[in-house]
Amino acid sequence: MNMAPDTHSKTARRPARRIAVEEGFTLPEIWTAARRVLGGHLGEEPGEAFVFGLTAPAPRSGRAGPPPWLAVLTDLDDRRLADMDASGIDLQLLLLASPGVQIFDAGEARELAMLANDRLASAIARHPTRFAGLAAIPPQDPVFAAAELERAVRTLGLRGAVINSHTGGEYLDGERFEPILDTAERLDVPIYIHPRAPSPAMVAPYLDQGLVGAIWGYAVEVGLHALRLIFSGTLDRHPRLRLVIGHMGEGIPFFLDRIDTHHGYGGGWGHRSRPLQRRPSEYFREHFCITTSGMNWAPALRLAIDTLGIERVLFAADYPFEDTKAAVERISAFALSDSERAAIEADNASRVFRLPAVACPDIPGSRAESQDTATDGRA
Ligand code: MN
Repeated sequence: MNMAPDTHSKTARRPARRIAVEEGFTLPEIWTAARRVLGGHLGEEPGEAFVFGLTAPAPRSGRAGPPPWLAVLTDLDDRRLADMDASGIDLQLLLLASPGVQIFDAGEARELAMLANDRLASAIARHPTRFAGLAAIPPQDPVFAAAELERAVRTLGLRGAVINSHTGGEYLDGERFEPILDTAERLDVPIYIHPRAPSPAMVAPYLDQGLVGAIWGYAVEVGLHALRLIFSGTLDRHPRLRLVIGHMGEGIPFFLDRIDTHHGYGGGWGHRSRPLQRRPSEYFREHFCITTSGMNWAPALRLAIDTLGIERVLFAADYPFEDTKAAVERISAFALSDSERAAIEADNASRVFRLPAVACPDIPGSRAESQDTATDGRA
């Protein structure tokens, strides 16, 4: 095995097209509403309140005021496009930034999800060769969420849904979320499980040392979510469900062999587990794709490719929270053949999210088909 893949590029470092698939945006209305709701319910969402800086100690930098990325987070035009041009991103797959609409009561969540999806569709219509997007949906109301996913895909041309992990401490393996999974499966669109702060029942030991967010808590939260979907038997009930997780698989590729081994010893068996038809790693490899978002480390990328296969690893920058230029520089320095690079930086994204070819702007009602449609129904 080549232990220094960063130092020997086999070939060209710029693919024909570079797509980044976990790129954040929000609406000013949603940012304001989130701060209002979290500020009024600090005890119900202690992790999210910490992430929003409502209970966290002042940053060590002493910086005051809104975070520097907030201005670009709400921009869906010139400023974002200039950043994309400067860093070499041809197309962003946009998703409503965490925690999306999942901290609101159901009524407000429904309204804000529709608003976010309509605004996102407008931005894509303005810049059809530069943006695609995933739908925000409110799991608080699973029947509505399923209908909104269908509207977003069929009417607005969005490419799937984003779920910011737990909703009020509940995960998608819960029976009440079945309408969402049924609809995603029927539409054959992926669900991107994006991080948020760990659920209230497990967040306490993360708070006092500030380990809630991207430094550790996000990976624990989404890794748990993915494993719950496997061990609950949810993926046996939904054999065509397609899932995407970021951050190089949230640690799971590193653990796959251990998970299989201990499943063989009786691990993963609780009162809500179901007997599995296959090894846990098989569900992970067949149902999940992973993205690099914010994990630009060559050994982790090497392990992800080795364990999952090149076709299940997608480039993402996690704009504007992470440094997109650094992400591009580091993947460009990673040793990949031309076809491997094209797969990770564009072709896998086009296949998984059914993105239109670059010359065919996606106009609702006359959607261009993807360059390479999946035939097995999986990612
Ligand atoms: Mn992200």
